[in-house]
Amino acid sequence: MQRGTFQLMKSVNKSNILNKIRTAEPISRAQIAKEIELTPPTVSSIVKELIEQELVRESSLGKSQGGRKPTMLHINNEAFYVIGVDAGPETVECILTDLKGEICERAHNKLKKPITNNEFLTILKETIWKILHSSTVNQEKILGIGVAMHGVVDVETGTSVIAPNLNLINIPIKTELEQEFNLTIKVENDARAMALGESWFGGYGDEDSMVAVNIGRGVGSGLVINGKLYHGEHDIAGEVGHMTVDMNGETCECGNVGCLQTFVSGEAIAKRASNQAPDRQHREGLTGKDVFELAQNGDDFYRNILQETGKIIGIGLTNLIHLINPSKIILGGGVMKGEKYILPAIQQTIEQRALILKAKQTKVSISKLGEDATLLGAVSLLLVELFDPVEKS
Ligand SMILES: [Zn+2]
Repeated sequence: MQRGTFQLMKSVNKSNILNKIRTAEPISRAQIAKEIELTPPTVSSIVKELIEQELVRESSLGKSQGGRKPTMLHINNEAFYVIGVDAGPETVECILTDLKGEICERAHNKLKKPITNNEFLTILKETIWKILHSSTVNQEKILGIGVAMHGVVDVETGTSVIAPNLNLINIPIKTELEQEFNLTIKVENDARAMALGESWFGGYGDEDSMVAVNIGRGVGSGLVINGKLYHGEHDIAGEVGHMTVDMNGETCECGNVGCLQTFVSGEAIAKRASNQAPDRQHREGLTGKDVFELAQNGDDFYRNILQETGKIIGIGLTNLIHLINPSKIILGGGVMKGEKYILPAIQQTIEQRALILKAKQTKVSISKLGEDATLLGAVSLLLVELFDPVEKS
């Protein structure tokens, strides 16, 4: 579908009805009218439009309450498709999904290092072409491409301002992809895309505010308020990895000292373990994954390292709770594979440190989207646009 033509929602009522169907399907016209307080004729006429646009389909699954079985409404998930890209730092991963996030196709390419802006863009385009060529989906039905990129992203212009792990700056991702594919392109920081994906696909209902924190190679987060990502004035809202937790700590890749990331990233955990390890043979070339495996094998020293990591993450999250007071915190990323040791320590720390009882009970859980969380986040960048109204009336 060509750029600029995909926005189908012309009114708030229409987008409210579509979102009601999305979150409550199967649902009847009568139920919609009741739940979002619109008159039955208004609902009927808008549903008719949605069916004509192929976004909604009917079935007769409803339970009869004496009379005829009501016709139920569903999102027509195969009506449109979206491409989601997780770009870097080691690979470019790409998926094609339907409106429900069901993955129909995958492609990936390795990124070599060092790499230039042009080489990076070429690989990005090649990976997307790969998926377009291997898919049997009618390309007219593709709504657009969402790109999740590490580092600082200017979402207005779709530029990767700083991509520290590739050592690149100012990559014009949106402009280049628009020219190549003539589709709508959305570019977002990867942790933020993950947060939006969690809120869209995670099935949490209508949470007012949630934070998703990704802890892996680095630490990033995204804040979703009323279904929308919060960016802050200069697109750096959510950079919790660079929150100072020790004013005399170690130097971080950002140049500051004592950032949360210098304690809890996979690499930082491995470093702390090798510095403190009683057993010299484990000191060389230890990785975060090794620490997890040694803990799994019952080694108390490594279990303690992970529990301590949980405590430090808990301190970072308590700071977040005091700043934002979210209704829910979702954790993802490679480090959270050590959930068994880390999560209880996180919860205990929040319970000890948060200011009031309700804040102590803030729900902290692990991402349900697993390894594909960021890719699905990239997909959700387009879906929120589709399901959102053009004008607020
Ligand atoms: Zn830092």
